Amino acid sequence: MYRYNTKEVKIGNVTIGGGNRIAIQSMTNTPTEDIKATVDQILRLEQAGCEIIRCTVPNSEAALAIKEIKKQIHIPLVADIHFDYKMAIMAMENGADKIRINPGNIGSADKVKAVVDVARERNIPIRIGVNSGSLEKNLVEKYGGVTAEGIVESALDKVHQVEDLGYDNLVISIKSSDVMMCVKAHELLAGKTGYPLHVGITEAGTLISGNIKSSIGLGLILGQGIGDTIRVSLTGDPVEEIKSAKLILRTLGLRKGGIEVVSCPTCGRTKIDLIGLANQVETLVQQYPLDIKVAVMGCAVNGPGEAKEADLGIAGGLGEGLLIKHGQIVKKMPEGELISALKSELDNWGK
Ligand code: SF4
Repeated sequence: MYRYNTKEVKIGNVTIGGGNRIAIQSMTNTPTEDIKATVDQILRLEQAGCEIIRCTVPNSEAALAIKEIKKQIHIPLVADIHFDYKMAIMAMENGADKIRINPGNIGSADKVKAVVDVARERNIPIRIGVNSGSLEKNLVEKYGGVTAEGIVESALDKVHQVEDLGYDNLVISIKSSDVMMCVKAHELLAGKTGYPLHVGITEAGTLISGNIKSSIGLGLILGQGIGDTIRVSLTGDPVEEIKSAKLILRTLGLRKGGIEVVSCPTCGRTKIDLIGLANQVETLVQQYPLDIKVAVMGCAVNGPGEAKEADLGIAGGLGEGLLIKHGQIVKKMPEGELISALKSELDNWGK
């Protein structure tokens, strides 16, 4: 897929932009100053495949906690700063690998300069983030409301403000919960800047609505070669964000690896608890770094045929189950043994 050629930016041990693979990130929802809870969550996220983590830094306790958190995790940490420029400085002094600010919220030019000075000294990238919800009044008036054009102009204004201070180690994010406005804004922005873009749909919602909005929004944006790092925002356990991000990238052909699970939609022929079975299989396959497709089918009549394109499959009949390889039934067994049979196939795959 054609991808916009953006500048390379190094965030700790992860490089984004310049054709590097699109990094998956998430954000903790623990109080950052609660070091144990935050580290525990980050380690769970790492295990799920998170490559960059962002933590909120609303106070000095949180900024100081970064030092200890960093010792216990293995992925770069981004400090999310809202209003207080001193927190940005403290976060960098305590080891943040990147900071996320909206210079418009930081206040006077002096304060922005103080933050940029420390970032420059330590060569720490700054993500300039603009949300449609905090678009400046003059831009709302100029464009007759909150528009993609206004969001892009706002972001570029902030970027120029930092560039004028002699710093260009930057990443840009523009967010809107209006999916199509967000898509349009990214299309406009990608043609106007060479900085890497952090892409996400903000306030996407709970598991179902968040996943649908993020898949459509990110799909349309990434599908045009735009975006260097992504975050799927979901109201819930951030581990779900990583699962979704991986699936979105894999569906677009932007990531390889990992087992893809396909399952039939169930119908009147289904005689087993296919939903439960598919969920068990999805959990099981996460521990295998194999690049294969596993099918979970609901019946012995059509299941094997429909699972033909999968490398491995299981199908459930009335009280019994089938193990399928490339569309061929290789074993019959009691239904309760299906998961362990699949596990043993995966354990020995390619051996
Ligand atoms: S595989 Fe069987 S149970 Fe599943 S949808 Fe097809 S016919 Fe129905």
